[in-house]
Amino acid sequence: MNEPIPALVQELRQGYEEGATRELGRRVARLRALHDAIQAAEPRILAALRADLNKTEYEAYLSEVSSLLAEIRFVVKRMKRWSRPKRVRTPATHIGSRSYVYSEPYGVALIIAPWNYPFQLAIAPLIGAIAAGNCAVVKPSELTPATAAVIREVVEGCLNDGTVRVVLGGIETAQALLAERFDCIFYTGSTAVGRQVMEAAARHLTPVTLELGGKSPCIVHADAKLEVAAMRIAWAKFFNAGQTCVAPDYVYVHRSVREPFIEALVRAIETMHRKRIEQGEFTHIVNERHYDRLQRYLGQGKLLHGGEGNRDTLLLEPTLLGEVNLEDEVMQEEIFGPILPILVYDELGEAIREIARRPKPLALYLFAESADVQRQVLQRLSFGGGCVNDAMFHLATPYLPFGGVGDSGMGAYHGRASFEAFSHRKSVLRQSTAFDMPLRYPHHKRALSFL
Ligand code: NAD
Repeated sequence: MNEPIPALVQELRQGYEEGATRELGRRVARLRALHDAIQAAEPRILAALRADLNKTEYEAYLSEVSSLLAEIRFVVKRMKRWSRPKRVRTPATHIGSRSYVYSEPYGVALIIAPWNYPFQLAIAPLIGAIAAGNCAVVKPSELTPATAAVIREVVEGCLNDGTVRVVLGGIETAQALLAERFDCIFYTGSTAVGRQVMEAAARHLTPVTLELGGKSPCIVHADAKLEVAAMRIAWAKFFNAGQTCVAPDYVYVHRSVREPFIEALVRAIETMHRKRIEQGEFTHIVNERHYDRLQRYLGQGKLLHGGEGNRDTLLLEPTLLGEVNLEDEVMQEEIFGPILPILVYDELGEAIREIARRPKPLALYLFAESADVQRQVLQRLSFGGGCVNDAMFHLATPYLPFGGVGDSGMGAYHGRASFEAFSHRKSVLRQSTAFDMPLRYPHHKRALSFL
């Protein structure tokens, strides 16, 4: 049971004001404790992910455990440097002064997480919140209840000083939290709910980071190395059964290589996934509602490969669709499942124009050898982040800020960007009192000349 939300937020605020989270040594100790607790709880985390989504050990460990442990180690090593006041230049007009930018914690942060990587997406922002010195409330997704329970157990077990609380519940709980005043909000989920979160934040003028979704395109140009493109796309698209915010949502392939590309993709799917499906080692769709939504998409194009599913086990196999209509749901909504529509283009500008007409995507992937094609796509299209000749790997490096733009979100995190997402940059000018500049005062006869 959760304690009443207003009281819980009040306790966190009091703790923050008493300085429970601000001292650097304590921040480091709390992150180390979190690291060790995640490591110790690994079997329980993997079991919960298996229960909620049938996540395989390979996928669960890679995307929800090892990535977090690596992120904590990365942050702990650098946060002392990031926390130092940063000296910046001062103009000559400010003679006698020095200028600094201080990173200060916002205060009490709210983190709302989705179900697709339920452990990772609740904890990764928390690492930034703790590193920056905040207290935090984490609200995991109600659609993955076993993982939500483990999140609470792990987090409140190792951070039992009341500086971080995990609140379990669904939409009503999220709304009750959003009614409170927080100092920053970090939301991961759909664009539609992101809008509501931002409206709620506006009531208190709370800064928000919104990590949202959308349809991330993948372009395969005529000169792409087809075998490697097919392997990388089949891996990225069907990882977690396509329930990944940055999964390639659809492919635009140059007409001249459509057939060999599809053949290579089918080979890649069979090599990588067939045996895993037969052994029950393929992630399931999260629930019946999403399974039924995906089934509807199957009727909106020509089946090129796959298409088999089982509503009882929620398994849906990797599926390729051709001849889709741009106005159909499958090309209007984020697919978020193992269905990949394949569209063709004759000339690069055609694909670029069609992508540019749509909301700005969270990710974009281009497979092309030509430097000119790469330059055109990177210059003409706006997207959160992406890869040239790869897919999804851009989010697995702590050196690249990860986030969306436009409908796919605002703000970014991972590595230093996480520390910054939870910090206010406070600008301070330190002036000397050893002398005073008479020119600045209005009664001086050359008052304007020093500017
Ligand atoms: P969702 O928006 O339905 O739910 C996410 C969280 O918001 C949950 O904790 C839920 O309880 C809460 N919530 C739901 N409705 C709410 C409401 N009306 N008011 C307040 N809170 C509410 O999203 P989801 O289905 O869990 O996740 C899928 C979406 O998230 C996809 O669009 C995907 O692309 C996106 N996503 C984005 C990222 C990213 O990093 N950008 C990562 C994962 C998922």
